[in-house]
Amino acid sequence: MLLKKNMTKLYPTCDKCKKTMYGYMNDEVIFWLCPPCGYFQGSANDQELVDMIYDDPFVALDMIKEKELVPIN
Ligand SMILES: [Zn+2]
Repeated sequence: MLLKKNMTKLYPTCDKCKKTMYGYMNDEVIFWLCPPCGYFQGSANDQELVDMIYDDPFVALDMIKEKELVPIN
């Protein structure tokens, strides 16, 4: 998994399959997901949150499910 610090570009494409990724965000985190292959990237201001997502990517998926992260596109 790759977490980039400065991800300002909207609608990035997946590094693996080159499809458009779907973005989710809140005040603290931006998270990009490629549904077809499951690849994702994210960035967060909160280093603790970054570490948490590194350790367990499902933390971010749970946040999407709980609507703590809202869709960008
Ligand atoms: Zn992909």
